Amino acid sequence: MEDQQLQQWVERISLASFGRPFVHKARFNRRLTSTGGRYFTKSHDIEISWQQYVQFGADDVEKIIKHELCHYHLHLAKRGYQHRDADFKALLQRVGGTRFCKSLPTAKRREPYRYKLVCTSCNTEYLRKRKLDPRKYACGNCRGKLKLLKLDLQQHS
Ligand SMILES: [Zn+2]
Ligand SMILES: [Zn+2]
Repeated sequence: MEDQQLQQWVERISLASFGRPFVHKARFNRRLTSTGGRYFTKSHDIEISWQQYVQFGADDVEKIIKHELCHYHLHLAKRGYQHRDADFKALLQRVGGTRFCKSLPTAKRREPYRYKLVCTSCNTEYLRKRKLDPRKYACGNCRGKLKLLKLDLQQHS
């Protein structure tokens, strides 16, 4: 399934279930695991979790698309487009969108690598999540001495 097919899929559901066209962009997000989909109020674009599709299949993703389209159409119509709004709840029920996304088994926040052990002889690098004493370990490649470096963390959300 490519973004292009997702786009057509969203356009189809929009016409069939909402009677209105979807004229913005839909794409898969390969890293999104905390939720099944997202609607962006600024760009009006929709993102669908690729993991959700892989693990739960087309039927579930169709319900997620409907959920995101509820945000989309209500927002464009300047009606209550947020989860707590009556408009949103009513429309979601009418089109059969998912209320909550299934949580993914892989959604558990994976701990990032914060440290790097570097061999002072052969420069082999070892990534580590926790701080440790480099003097207690030796390079797995050449048995050389290791030094510990802290990594700059790049947070993705
Ligand atoms: Zn939502
Ligand atoms: Zn080494």
